[in-house]
Amino acid sequence: MPTESTFFLAGLFLLLAAAGWALGRFGERDEEEGAPPPLNVDYLKGLNFLLNEQTDQALEHFLKMVRVDDKTIETHFALGSLFRRRGEVDRAIRIHQNIIARPDLAAEQKDQALFSLAKDYLRAGLLDRAENVCVRLANGSRYQVEALEQLCRIYELEHEWQKAIDAGQKLEVLSGRSLELEIAHYYCELAEQAIANKDYRAARAYVKKAQSGRPRTMRGALTRAGIARDTNDTKTALRLYHRIIDESNYLITEALPQLVDIYDRENATDKLERNLENLLAKHPEIKNDVAYTAIVNQIDGVKVIDNCVEDYMMNEPTLTDFIDMQTIEDANGQHRAAALKKVRAALSKLASTTPRYQCKECGFSSQQLLWQCPSCKYWETQRPFTSVRFDSVLQRTTPAP
Ligand SMILES: [Zn+2]
Repeated sequence: MPTESTFFLAGLFLLLAAAGWALGRFGERDEEEGAPPPLNVDYLKGLNFLLNEQTDQALEHFLKMVRVDDKTIETHFALGSLFRRRGEVDRAIRIHQNIIARPDLAAEQKDQALFSLAKDYLRAGLLDRAENVCVRLANGSRYQVEALEQLCRIYELEHEWQKAIDAGQKLEVLSGRSLELEIAHYYCELAEQAIANKDYRAARAYVKKAQSGRPRTMRGALTRAGIARDTNDTKTALRLYHRIIDESNYLITEALPQLVDIYDRENATDKLERNLENLLAKHPEIKNDVAYTAIVNQIDGVKVIDNCVEDYMMNEPTLTDFIDMQTIEDANGQHRAAALKKVRAALSKLASTTPRYQCKECGFSSQQLLWQCPSCKYWETQRPFTSVRFDSVLQRTTPAP
């Protein structure tokens, strides 16, 4: 089936014929004025390839026929961009390389062609090549800002965090735009790499840099709390985890399991109970988050948390549609506890297979907290669901109509 680009090329061939380019300008004009010029062989060959839907060959003939000059360069750029948009990246690369090969190309047009080529490489997943071209453009061209933006994106994909920081800082200076949040996350990534290598000193230094910017990301505090926990600095770890929940309630999903674990290790569950009671008195709106976090992480045996879970189960609208929760509520002691335990175990199982976080920008959902959304690429836009996603379970089990 002919593609959009086939039609575009066909249109170009027709335009060339109509303008007399193929027959006059690009053919040998040795006839007298007014006499019919000879047919251009490349033009006919190109048309023939198009009619047979051999777009690659047609493109080669188009490039051979139409030299890049001031009058045709925009057509070349338009065709290159069309091919890239269609996902025909090899063809886009061929066109942009053809433009760059022109010996007398103006510097501005060369930069434009190089930047187009970088976008082609990026689209094709050829990160090294895209990086090389962008580094060249970032060192002095009218595409400096755009090239630095692409470099940040490339370094994020390559996990080259120090290079991403350098490009981000240059970009801030040139564009006048703050990238402090992105750069803070780049430092947190470096800190996490250092933690993986058990280099806690380097990790602390990176976190410090991550937390020096504004707005501050709580990821820095979470990473620092993790370092304190791993190095048995219990006091610092507890202080930080409490602060994280207090300042960014939604991160209770990450901090609560750690808190329960540390208090448990310290045999200080009564202290945890008191602290959680105070927290819920201050932020009653996070009861569901506490309950859902406990269900997902199978935390039980802490009275304040168990109460939140029970309240959650009694009031979960989809759950009460399926189970007669009131009968369970009215049952006596042992039966009630056994029934609730069963429901809780079932919920825990469901929660382990349904998404827990969703990006507030694009709606992408995942099981784990992802600091950079893989879909829209924004940082720190994921928020936790506060209940089991029954809709996603039902979607999976409902056969297609
Ligand atoms: Zn997103």
